[in-house]
Amino acid sequence: MKIPINLKAGEVDKEEKREVIIGIDLGTTNSLVAYADGDEVIVIRDESGSNALVPSILHFGADGVVVGDTARKKLISAPERTIYSVKRLMGKSYADLESLKSSVGYNVIDQDTEALVKIEIDGKYYTPIELSAEILKELKKRVEKHLKTEVSKAVITVPAYFNDAQRQATRDAGKLAGLEVLRIVNEPTAASLAYGIGLSKEEEKTIVVYDLGGGTFDISILQIQNGIFEVLATHGDTYLGGDDFDKVIIDYWLSQIELSSEDLNNDKSLGQEFRTKAEEAKKTLSNSENYTSAIGAYALQLDRKTFAHISEALINKTLHACKLAMKDAGLSKKDINQVVLVGGSTRMPLVKSAVSEYFDQKADDSLDPDEVVAIGAAIQADILAGNRKDLLLIDITPLSMGIETVGGLMDVIISRNSKVPTRAGRQYTTSVDGQKNLKIAVFQGERDLVQHNRKLGEFILKDIPPMPAGIPKIEIKFILDADGILTVKASELRSNVETQMEIRSAYGISEEDMARMLIDSLQNAESDMKTKALLESINEANNILLATDRFLEQNKSALKEDQVSQIIELKEELLASTKGDSKDKIEAAMQAMNTYTEPLAHEALDRNIGKALKDSKV
Ligand code: ADP
Ligand code: MG
Repeated sequence: MKIPINLKAGEVDKEEKREVIIGIDLGTTNSLVAYADGDEVIVIRDESGSNALVPSILHFGADGVVVGDTARKKLISAPERTIYSVKRLMGKSYADLESLKSSVGYNVIDQDTEALVKIEIDGKYYTPIELSAEILKELKKRVEKHLKTEVSKAVITVPAYFNDAQRQATRDAGKLAGLEVLRIVNEPTAASLAYGIGLSKEEEKTIVVYDLGGGTFDISILQIQNGIFEVLATHGDTYLGGDDFDKVIIDYWLSQIELSSEDLNNDKSLGQEFRTKAEEAKKTLSNSENYTSAIGAYALQLDRKTFAHISEALINKTLHACKLAMKDAGLSKKDINQVVLVGGSTRMPLVKSAVSEYFDQKADDSLDPDEVVAIGAAIQADILAGNRKDLLLIDITPLSMGIETVGGLMDVIISRNSKVPTRAGRQYTTSVDGQKNLKIAVFQGERDLVQHNRKLGEFILKDIPPMPAGIPKIEIKFILDADGILTVKASELRSNVETQMEIRSAYGISEEDMARMLIDSLQNAESDMKTKALLESINEANNILLATDRFLEQNKSALKEDQVSQIIELKEELLASTKGDSKDKIEAAMQAMNTYTEPLAHEALDRNIGKALKDSKV
């Protein structure tokens, strides 16, 4: 045994403890935490040692907040003080959430439709970030109790489609919980790491991650190459999960007995009893052929065959999303090397067989589907801790990002499906003489006009030294980091004036919005293109008008009177054409102006050269 001695202090050095970075799966329904210990990954369980899942539910009781199973038990007795599905609220504004509000028992605040959503309990307001932080604190507490030491660093997973605002919100929740979030990792990426896919650089694989949780369904197609993880496509349904299977079971039972769904709505605790029994039936059928039970005098029964029948539509929905994702990725089934099952609901034999059949290969369920994502997060944490050879994780950005330019046009700087981290830049200039400030408005979306896209934020590049229009060289840089968080920098290169901001969007884009924006952009491509062409012509015409004014000003003395009046007439025609919506008329007016002024401009140029030569006294 070696004993390290600190020679200066003359003391025995304390054993250097390896720092643990934890991996967290912050789920909609359940959350869990894990860490790597050598080659092993330890998933933290409760006292009984059997359950690793912490229900993502909070209850505000008399003596503060409780999280997990205890909170879950309060769903019925105190619905207005018991919060679930917080993940759905992350990075969202009230406007994003109209549909959700009616379906939850707690109070979602709607004063300011553009601000981030808040939840009210006993006259106090909580943001989803604070609420998620409570769940994270609980996980942190559990792991600290297990390790008997403090932890302060974490990797947290999010769905691959999470946008900038949602990732930021998740990161902030970590900070609030006293955790430095070293990396936000996509859930499917974590799942593949858990399966050991991508841990060797030589490996080349295309895999499908099928994740059916409690309330959401996500399908992701990843390509792993040279240790690089690329999300080729993601699809899914943010309102499809295990809960819906419970619902079809309840509906089936109600059809058998003298009760209606209205009765369950009116008697909340009866409703909850049915939900509990339905979930129990579903889980039982994952291991046995038949389920029987009773609620009071009502006998409840369900067999596998009936369950298969009543849940067929739900499973088909997920397969349809698989089809769309495969299409997006441009792949066929034979290109898929492995299909990985994630999420508690993939325990259903029906799901396993349907997915295996759909992809023509046995779906991999060798790891516990509840734990896969947390295990992967722990492996990523271990990589970041420097305990494994470094691997690069590459994701894609789901929507284009750009800035507003003259006329409300969207100028894309980082395009949709770009690999992150990435950076891109472009140069712009001013359109007005002596312009001192330039507003930079950043947008996300696929449409040509910013008004149809989502604003991420704006800032002003100030104190540009006065220069004629067109002279300043303004460089705008977009830097998208590995977590998918955007920083925008603007600088005037001639004067070195610089400003930058991390884009913290006032509100995020919901998946529904994202899907809608993509569909819109396809449907409106033609009309957008026309509008874009028109706006471009107007911009060009305005530039010609400005240039003409300058020309008239500079050549006042040399121009003949009829020439001046002819130019003014052409100017008026051009100006008038820009007020209409005919691109052709504008083009014709520009053409007329150019034809007339070109020879005059040449003459002026010759005059000026002659003058310059004379002035320089050669
Ligand atoms: P999330 O990722 O949304 O937090 P989970 O992956 O924890 O969700 O999945 C929770 C869902 O899994 C619940 O709907 C639960 O009923 C379901 N589930 C858990 N175990 C089983 C099982 N043995 N059979 C069927 N469904 C199950
Ligand atoms: Mg999950």
